Amino acid sequence: MVKAFASEELERRLLVELGSRVRLGGFVYPLLLAAVALQVEIPGTYFWIFWLGTLFVLLGSIWRTVAANRAANASSNWRSVREEIRVSSLLLSALMSFLTSFALAVGPHSDFSHLILFGLISWNALGCSVFAPDLSLAKAFNLVSMIPFLIWCLTVQDSFGWSSALIFGISWLFLWISAKLANTHLKKMVMTQIQLESQADDLRNARDSAEEASRARTQFLANMSHEIRTPLNGIIGVTDLMRGTPLDDEQRELIGIMSQSGNHLLTLVNDLLDLSKINAGKLTIENVEFDLRHLLDETCRPLQLQAESKGLEWHLQVRKEVPQLCLGDPVRVRQVLSNLMSNALKFTDHGGVSIDVGMADGQQMRFVVEDTGIGIEEAKLQGIFEEFEQADRTTTRRFGGTGLGLAISKKLVELMGGRIGVQSAVGQGSVFWFELATSGSRS
Ligand code: ADP
Repeated sequence: MVKAFASEELERRLLVELGSRVRLGGFVYPLLLAAVALQVEIPGTYFWIFWLGTLFVLLGSIWRTVAANRAANASSNWRSVREEIRVSSLLLSALMSFLTSFALAVGPHSDFSHLILFGLISWNALGCSVFAPDLSLAKAFNLVSMIPFLIWCLTVQDSFGWSSALIFGISWLFLWISAKLANTHLKKMVMTQIQLESQADDLRNARDSAEEASRARTQFLANMSHEIRTPLNGIIGVTDLMRGTPLDDEQRELIGIMSQSGNHLLTLVNDLLDLSKINAGKLTIENVEFDLRHLLDETCRPLQLQAESKGLEWHLQVRKEVPQLCLGDPVRVRQVLSNLMSNALKFTDHGGVSIDVGMADGQQMRFVVEDTGIGIEEAKLQGIFEEFEQADRTTTRRFGGTGLGLAISKKLVELMGGRIGVQSAVGQGSVFWFELATSGSRS
């Protein structure tokens, strides 16, 4: 079925090609005949027969042009359009060759006769290449346009006639082969074009359904994360309230574990919600004025306490050229910062963590979070900002995590029009940085 469709489509396209090739060529025939009539002295009544024939050639050309114009838009009637082009072309060729050989036969023999003969071979060659989209037509044209001349050549019965017949015969064979080759080549090209178009259609459909599936998945994830977060907040709230009630040591410990697990789960759900929002293009970035130093203090305080309890040094430096008030999204700046800082803390057992906020090129605000932790292998650095990418499965088992934090950070920084990067060496620590445009901020 598919094959039948492809072969019908092939035939139809070849017809369109044929139509575009033969559209205007027919009008050259009456001009050529007029040139013959002017050079060969056609005697008496033959002259009128010749011109009447030429008028028919003109009418045939008009008919073929009309049919050729319909070829491009032919749908179910394409076969009848092809028949019209075939019949009109053969009629034209037959008339053309008959009238020219007629003129040669009835007119006096001259040098111009030779010229006409060899001009006719060129005409044949041209016809074979023009009709290449339709091999049957090319073959029929070849025969129809040759036979009257061959007859004429043979009736002349002199050396010129014999040698012309020989040249005509050889040319006929050669042109027949070249028409066949041109037709095969053209068919291959059109077939490849049809296949490529159908592959492009398949790919487009596959892409559309993949996008649709991805949208549905993202939407589902967003809905689920949202639905999970609401009861989870309730559980965490209740455990916090229970902590304030009289409890024995064991109960306190159990409530502590519950609260910790709840908070862990909440972080995970929040990450998933953020990621699905970003992927669905639904996360909007605010542009409000905020106090950067205040934001840094607030973000650092709980992490600094954690660092101290781990016995790590904590160092925060905000350069004086950094404006006090900035324009941007404080919630998202804080989210990226706390993700980088908590990673630094998580992956560092000795030494410390330092945060440096300054200006890069006077235009960009640059945040640098440096640690003296385990570092990241060179090979893993490339994809570290991809979703679910974790540098090392064993460290993941040891330190936990989902591999979403850096992916979210990168997307947030990019949504804020900035860029993010990292330098790291195993055993020597890591330097994560991001830059944000400061346009609109003021000191
Ligand atoms: P998570 O920490 O939840 O696994 P992230 O996307 O924040 O996810 O980090 C991805 C991975 O990058 C981590 O699992 C860790 O292997 C590596 N990584 C991130 N920050 C650091 C760091 N400061 N030092 C060493 N490795 C890091």
